[in-house]
Amino acid sequence: MKYRILKQSKTPFDKVHEECGVFGIAAPEGKEIAAAHEAYVALFALQHRGQEAAGIAVNNRGVIHCHKDVGLVSQVFNQQILDSMPGSMAVGHVRYSTTGKQSRENAQPIAITHVKGNLAVAHNGNLVNAGELRRRIELNGGIFRSSNDTEVLVYTIVNERLKCGSIEEAVKNTMSIIQGAYSLVVMSPRKLIAARDPHGFRPLCIGLLDDCYVFASETCALDALGATFVRDVEPGEVCVVENGKLRSMHCGVQCKSSACVFEYIYFARPDSIIDGASVELARQEAGKYLSIEHPVGADVVIGVPDSGIPAAIGYAKFSGIPYGVGLIKNRYIARTFIQPGQDKRERSVRLKLNALRTAVEGKRVIMVDDSIVRGTTCARLVKLLRDAGAAEVHMRISAPPFRHPCFFGTDIPERSQLLAHGRTVEEMREIIGVDSLGFLSLEAARKIAVGCHLGFCDACFSGEYPIPVPEQAEKNMFENEIPLGADKHAGGNQDKE
Ligand code: SF4
Repeated sequence: MKYRILKQSKTPFDKVHEECGVFGIAAPEGKEIAAAHEAYVALFALQHRGQEAAGIAVNNRGVIHCHKDVGLVSQVFNQQILDSMPGSMAVGHVRYSTTGKQSRENAQPIAITHVKGNLAVAHNGNLVNAGELRRRIELNGGIFRSSNDTEVLVYTIVNERLKCGSIEEAVKNTMSIIQGAYSLVVMSPRKLIAARDPHGFRPLCIGLLDDCYVFASETCALDALGATFVRDVEPGEVCVVENGKLRSMHCGVQCKSSACVFEYIYFARPDSIIDGASVELARQEAGKYLSIEHPVGADVVIGVPDSGIPAAIGYAKFSGIPYGVGLIKNRYIARTFIQPGQDKRERSVRLKLNALRTAVEGKRVIMVDDSIVRGTTCARLVKLLRDAGAAEVHMRISAPPFRHPCFFGTDIPERSQLLAHGRTVEEMREIIGVDSLGFLSLEAARKIAVGCHLGFCDACFSGEYPIPVPEQAEKNMFENEIPLGADKHAGGNQDKE
């Protein structure tokens, strides 16, 4: 088994990344819908959760057909492909890979045929005991086609399915075996299942599109479809949709909930509502607390587009300092941009963001951003503002400093690469080159998601992991290069459940 430490982020911009977004839809028996087309729309809305690969598996009267590839949703699918995927039940996935090359074999959903039928699974999160489970399966003759933990999950579900009477029972039993973060959608010939890990690390919600149940990582996908929000999937809950009816059970693993607080700070779309709390309002709330914890005299508050803007608005509202647009974002630069070498990163930041001279010249500027990872982008933004004539630049961060890795599905670099690792705030201020620097406190971060009834994980800031994590291994720890065959089809309908 090869353990590999995370590589440098593949983006020239100094951000952490979510790994995935999931979606599922099921029509009642006898009703025909174009499930693949609906999944396509939903995945478009979830694109911010992963831009490296996309896939949809559709169920056409018990036969599962899967199409997936590296690329954005718009690059992986076109009208012709979607039209060639009939079926009234579907699961979909967008992926951001944290290690290794962008590889098609790591794209999801994973569609397989097993001795009792067929199955397609899409997963958001990261299993902390995947390495151990994979080793156990391999010692029993299992052969893996990819390097991602979802395949371990699929193996485990199939293994459990052989011992019990239904696919939902197999999913439920699997939840006592796997540990870590997972929001799942599982499609069998007749059932659509959604499950959320007992800690509730990653979001997952339920909606209704006419009489079709849908599951999605975020409510913004329901809005894009025109679906009505029903409720969130609760931590530890297994939801089963069969013939248009929704039923639910608990997996039986009891623990304190620990939803990822960074979903509210950065990952999720601001128009999403997660576990009862508006993401936009949570960001504004973070800005409010920042203004209380780190006040400073200034002429204008600006936000780093996009996710720094709501916190900047919150800071401005509460402090009484006017909010202004000080940085303009080039909306056409994305993952398609040819990644420059390290020495060209400054130019790529200038391409993405530019300072608005008329808004900052001669002014004392408070610049609000959502997080600092390595600090390289911040330093370049500060230079942009100073070059545009800002008299003072004060930086406020709507999260506590990143000091620890995440094992639950977020691409946070190893400790030594983090600006905050082993440094005081004053040392960080000097490196970034700002007049003052202030981070949101942990206590405030725990209060921003007003209306959320769950507890929070804040381990990347506090080091307090809600579950034991492997000491030296980072996530996707078994990254190997395995030559693969095609996985376009998984047919058969032996499983009649
Ligand atoms: S460690 Fe950080 S990024 Fe990971 S789940 Fe916890 S709060 Fe979210």
